Amino acid sequence: MTPLEFDRDHLWHPYTNVAKPGPVHLVKEAEGIWLTLDDGTRVIDAMSSWWCTIHGHRHPQIVQAMHDQLDSLPHVMFGGLTHDPAVELGKRLIGMLPDALDRVFYCDSGSVSVEVAMKMAVQYQMAMGRTGRTGFATIRGGYHGDTWKAMSVCDPVNGMHGLFRGALGIEHFLPRPSVQMGQEWPDDPVLNGVAEMEALLTEQADNLAAVILEPVVQGAGGMYFYHPQYLVELRKRCDQQGILLIFDEIATGFGRTGKAFALEHAGVVPDIICLGKALTGGHISFAATVATKDVAYGIGESEAGVFMHGPTFMGNPLACAAACASLDLMADGAWQTRVAQIETQMREDLEPATDYDGVVDVRVVGAIGVIQMAEWQDTSIAHRKARQSGVYLRPFAHNIYTMPPFITEPEDLSRITTAMLDLAKGP
Ligand SMILES: *Cc1c(COP(=O)(O)O)cnc(C)c1O
Repeated sequence: MTPLEFDRDHLWHPYTNVAKPGPVHLVKEAEGIWLTLDDGTRVIDAMSSWWCTIHGHRHPQIVQAMHDQLDSLPHVMFGGLTHDPAVELGKRLIGMLPDALDRVFYCDSGSVSVEVAMKMAVQYQMAMGRTGRTGFATIRGGYHGDTWKAMSVCDPVNGMHGLFRGALGIEHFLPRPSVQMGQEWPDDPVLNGVAEMEALLTEQADNLAAVILEPVVQGAGGMYFYHPQYLVELRKRCDQQGILLIFDEIATGFGRTGKAFALEHAGVVPDIICLGKALTGGHISFAATVATKDVAYGIGESEAGVFMHGPTFMGNPLACAAACASLDLMADGAWQTRVAQIETQMREDLEPATDYDGVVDVRVVGAIGVIQMAEWQDTSIAHRKARQSGVYLRPFAHNIYTMPPFITEPEDLSRITTAMLDLAKGP
């Protein structure tokens, strides 16, 4: 049995049907933007391995930091114990985030960090004596992970609600903000969506712990970019109603939208922020949920006192060391110039697609480039073409997109955008 045969017969891949397994490539090695396949073919990882490898794969500084950590303390429980990598990472995160975000909870993955944020919000409201406030509001088109509570705030149509109807809690959905990033913000509260937002939050205030959403850029729910003013208005209404605001920056955090965090586009500070994906530069799974002092001490000084969460691998030193090294690579700010160059080039390179049949929209922000098609995209076509084009793309839903590593050079970015245009032209 070859490795690919065993894989096909025994391993589960993300969102796949074991009875009809799609094609998979066997990856032997990764370095920088490149993946080397079993036959020696090299392809560019235009996905940054699901948006994580911002400095490229196997970055020497991150690898070195992980080696050093392996030699002293690969893991230790976080209950009653701490270690330098956890402290160092905490300092870096708090240093990068707005001042109000002050208390870090380390998690194993993005979905867990969303669970933690939602649990924090409910515990906070209970601590304030507002016991009925256990629900959540969000906007349509969002994605917050695959675990149970996270699923309940994913888009109710293209998320998992259809399949798990009745099993998931019912949350409150606002329309996707209709004003897109770059458009003029209309003052009319009906047109800009604030009227409906305000009505829901006023009506449901006694039932809502928090509003959770991805600031400015919705990722896996549809690659949609909306106007930052929506967040300014939302913050105001949440404050009026005592509803917490949770930003899920798992996809947008660490430079992807051109700012260190997408909240900077709006100048809005949430009560809780979820971080993940690029946190370790894509070298190992890790995430964090960071709360304000108000939220942390609100829970802490309540009758319950303890925050009821504590994963086995919480604060894993190896992951903390990788994350510290990744954040050190961002410290000089050079990424910002690179992301700006990537944005400019993608705008130019992808522009021709606006004239193609079947293309609905072309949009770019930071190091995110999207060609939105009228038809649902078949990932297997992109998969098959990877060897020819030398570019690994994995379209989803209606979108052919790239989130390249920030280190991608202009000529390699051209290969990515050419491959995207080629896919948009049809099979
Ligand atoms: C990927 C993602 C998650 C889930 O993270 P996992 O590490 O896959 O659990 C949650 N929210 C957003 C916005 C994401 O992009």
